[in-house]
Amino acid sequence: MFGENVFDRRAMRERLPREVYAQLLEVMEGNGRMDEALAGVIASAMKEWAVSKGATHYAHWFHPRNEMTAEKHMAFLTVDSDGTPLESFSAWELIQGEPDASSFPCGSVRSTFEARGYTAWDPTSPAFLVMTDRGGTLCVPSVFIAFDGTPLDMKTPLLKALSALEQRALRISRLFGNRGVRWIKMTCGAEQEFFLIDADRARRRPDILHCGRTLFGAEPPKGQQMEDHYFGSIHHRVLSYMEEVEEELLRLGVAVKTRHNEVAPCQYEFAPQFCEANLACDQNQMMMLTMRRLAHRHGLRLLLHEKPFAGLNGSGKHVNFSLMDSEGRNLLSPSSNPRRSVQFLTYLAGFVLGLWEHGGLLRAATACPGNSHRLGGNEAPPVIMSIYLGDVITRVLDRIDEELEALEGKRQLDLGLSRLPSILADNTDRNRTAPIAFTGNKLEFRSPGSSQSIAGPLTMLASLWAMGLEWIGDRMESRMAAGMEPREAALEAVREAVRRSRGVMFNGNCYSPEWEEEARRRGLFVAKGPTEALGRLVSRENTDLLGRLGVMGHGECRILCETRLEQHVKWTEIEMSVMRSMVQEGVLPALGRGAKEEAELLGAISSLGLDDGGCHTKRRVKLLLEARSAVAERLKALDVASGKLKELGGTSDLFEACRFSEECQQVMGALREAVDKGEEMCPEDLWGYPRYRQLLSLG
Ligand code: ADP
Ligand code: MG
Repeated sequence: MFGENVFDRRAMRERLPREVYAQLLEVMEGNGRMDEALAGVIASAMKEWAVSKGATHYAHWFHPRNEMTAEKHMAFLTVDSDGTPLESFSAWELIQGEPDASSFPCGSVRSTFEARGYTAWDPTSPAFLVMTDRGGTLCVPSVFIAFDGTPLDMKTPLLKALSALEQRALRISRLFGNRGVRWIKMTCGAEQEFFLIDADRARRRPDILHCGRTLFGAEPPKGQQMEDHYFGSIHHRVLSYMEEVEEELLRLGVAVKTRHNEVAPCQYEFAPQFCEANLACDQNQMMMLTMRRLAHRHGLRLLLHEKPFAGLNGSGKHVNFSLMDSEGRNLLSPSSNPRRSVQFLTYLAGFVLGLWEHGGLLRAATACPGNSHRLGGNEAPPVIMSIYLGDVITRVLDRIDEELEALEGKRQLDLGLSRLPSILADNTDRNRTAPIAFTGNKLEFRSPGSSQSIAGPLTMLASLWAMGLEWIGDRMESRMAAGMEPREAALEAVREAVRRSRGVMFNGNCYSPEWEEEARRRGLFVAKGPTEALGRLVSRENTDLLGRLGVMGHGECRILCETRLEQHVKWTEIEMSVMRSMVQEGVLPALGRGAKEEAELLGAISSLGLDDGGCHTKRRVKLLLEARSAVAERLKALDVASGKLKELGGTSDLFEACRFSEECQQVMGALREAVDKGEEMCPEDLWGYPRYRQLLSLG
């Protein structure tokens, strides 16, 4: 079954004329151009393949800035002038589509340009089929661009950043004399965390339906304190769901390697086998779509929100990444071969330097509305972008520094590099508190949110890595021009890079309050809230970098920033309005009824001249009424805040509006507190919404 629904290299080789296949491979490796004739042959083979499997439609499948995917289905069917039905799919239909851009988030582009965009096939990611019982759709992975050429999607900047990184990485490889290396690709494997809850119960919670998270809910008696869920045996309903998702993904060429329970009740994880980063991005989207589509068949609701339940762990998406060359070598794999291990250190140091200079970009790339509830909490990666390299690597970097100092005259230096692989293999100390960590033969970025597209984080990771490698490449080159051997030139450059970027390396506990102070002293960027974080997208040094690398122009950075700010504002508006109606329609009436019932009981008891028997009925009436007025009071504050947010959202100062939306979240928090107190007091049958303990049990 593996890959049977993907028009992958195997299918292409079978169905395309040999020379067309060879030409397409060139295009896919970035060395050739797609012309109409080539596209025509491919389109026709693709259509034959799709139709033979039962597909009736095709769609350009793209990643607008809302982080999800979009598709407009077109039928293969056309009727000719004789009334004869035909199936057609032309070159132009394959390489270019024309959706209306005006309804996608695109910042101020909307008002200043004609709101039309087009989608164009990205041949580096293969087309795939999404099948239903009746037919199916051929999805053509595409980029999405405005008519004036401004990218409107997440994919275009990613492709540009990957290419910028590849160029710099190849240069280093060539400086080391690796002549045979044709390409270097970023690899990525994204671990996907998620919650699954009972669909019927979820349906009775408007907050889950509309916002993907609970806006209130008193703490359940048993949360995650017992630490009994992580790696526990998987609930049978969930397991059967997972098996179906895995099977579907298998057909789409995604190999899911890992599945397990996560820390919180009802929380789980899938991890696929890694692949080239652009493809990994598409595969992660396919995974999220498939998971969402299949959940209802099992009576489950999928929650990809980063923080669906207060007091429980949130969900992230750990982005593991590295570089692989055309010889199949992982460039972040330490080697016992001294030449290779110096290359390993060079690539690693390049990343660390980029992180030191432009870490703010990573903070910005992970500031999506849901993730803002998770980042900075006590279980999630902190908001300060630092890297954990572990004691072994840190010691090696120190040694380079010392030994180069003492080198004068000596030619050979022993850094103990040959023993590195075996030491690292045994080295189990893994710091789980750092946002970025070196994990033996790859790097892991833990901040991205579970609902996010990994395109944004990958774009920034690739860009800052490209910057670091360029810096090192420049220094290596000038030293080599002065006659130095590549190995020595690289080590000198690594030493310089490490000296510069020391401040971003931290092996301690990133959750401790002392680290925040220390980080500020070191000059690291500390942004607690999304507004400040998103500001990094438009700071001078970052827009200059992205512009220089050809990833995004100044204007595009501004548009992306505006889109994200606007998203925060809009989400807060939605959440406030859902919260308002739940409180108005469910919470206040429940508390009123509760008080009324108790008051009636109290009346009956006293009219019968009986004793309350230590049940404190009167006190309960009072407490319920107090809870009710506390809720009503805070609801008023919510209304005031939401009115002001609407006003600000209508003005052009999106920073101001976003900053105020952060304040609104506090106001919602205060209302939530009052509601949760009321919930604890309200009789079971009167509380209109399923409680945490019901939501968090699959029966
Ligand atoms: P963890 O122990 O961090 O939970 P998992 O096994 O759940 O690790 O996931 C690790 C992820 O890292 C997998 O998706 C895996 O394919 C990916 N990975 C492994 N090696 C590389 C690499 N060289 N480049 C990119 N991703 C990688
Ligand atoms: Mg994992």
